[in-house]
Amino acid sequence: MVLPTLIADVERAFVSYAPGHWPDATHEEWNDWRWQLKNRVTTLEGLEKHLRLSPEERAGVILSAHKLAMSITPHYFNLIEVDDPEGPIRRQVIPRFEESHHHPSEVADPCGEDAHMPVPGLVHRYPDRVNFLITDRCASYCRYCTRSRVVSGAGEQELHTEFEQAFNYLEQHTEVRDVLLSGGDPLLFSDDKLEKILSRLRAIKHIEFLRIGTRVPIFLPQRITIGLCQMLQKYHPLWMSVHTNHPRELTLEVRAALERLANHGIPLGNQSVLLSKVNDTLPIMKSLVQKLLQCRVRPYYLYQCDLIHGSAHLRTSVSKGMEIIEGLRGHTTGYAIPQFVIDAPGGGGKVPVNPNYIRSHDEKKIVLQNYEGRLFEYPEIGL
Ligand SMILES: *Cc1c(COP(=O)(O)O)cnc(C)c1O
Repeated sequence: MVLPTLIADVERAFVSYAPGHWPDATHEEWNDWRWQLKNRVTTLEGLEKHLRLSPEERAGVILSAHKLAMSITPHYFNLIEVDDPEGPIRRQVIPRFEESHHHPSEVADPCGEDAHMPVPGLVHRYPDRVNFLITDRCASYCRYCTRSRVVSGAGEQELHTEFEQAFNYLEQHTEVRDVLLSGGDPLLFSDDKLEKILSRLRAIKHIEFLRIGTRVPIFLPQRITIGLCQMLQKYHPLWMSVHTNHPRELTLEVRAALERLANHGIPLGNQSVLLSKVNDTLPIMKSLVQKLLQCRVRPYYLYQCDLIHGSAHLRTSVSKGMEIIEGLRGHTTGYAIPQFVIDAPGGGGKVPVNPNYIRSHDEKKIVLQNYEGRLFEYPEIGL
């Protein structure tokens, strides 16, 4: 029998890990997002000052120089489990040797984005919305990044977003009513630079809905200043999707940053990626989604990990995701349950994957299975 993984109480609670490895940082420095960026851990020496690396990690860091850069903000670095080289925070941001293994099903562009770019940097796959990749930089780099082919500047391919061409395309394409700003991480831009983009988009009449996909509130909560929130507030309706994978990431500072965003009227969603030894157990996911609700963030998507080069050590079976959703539905608040999706390899878009609650369905009736496994019948109408 497999025992459920126990979760430390500290991971259910909202705690601060600051200043951790940076005892000499002043309060002002620590809370300054530019100081956090300047002091990111980006080298082997920087890592080894604080952690004893496993051979797999050591080799991974050396290899990452030519692939996807390593970069970890002090805020996030403090969440790393010092004694456990297989810890859930470590596995997300410290490269491992396994990244150099290429499985035959893995590719550089798993969601076929390059083939759906009418303008460099603008992905137009769905009828009424676009994904606008405005930067190739992030506060920290996730080892399973779906865009590792272009992100961080370390790999062979580069992102050259054509802003004027993209705005012209959007002006001409009146069917586009939803623009998702992504990258890279849009919140690494200065307030001014970001505002230029938002105001330009808002000047296009048929664009109804703006959203920003970002992991900055998690990696760099100091960036969520009141000034930024006040600027964003001018461009409503503006929604935000953050990216949290593990309950420990929801620190006191992150909760405060999310609260500032919510207080400025920004509806918040969360996207998680299902990752091996990070969040692939029901107790961890349950704790995560329940903590998100406390931060006024609605779990939006749970992604099956994309088939990116060198990601096999982070991927799980698809069944694992279905099992987790089954363990949440009915057992906790409906608002806490994300939609599990696979971004179809080759460019098919996001496809929902659900546990099967329909036991049979014909012209006469549908037989349903509830969260406890009990069966119920509902008659089909008029037959
Ligand atoms: C994910 C994605 C979107 C947004 O999809 P929603 O289901 O509306 O959140 C839009 N464009 C592309 C290319 C995407 O990959």
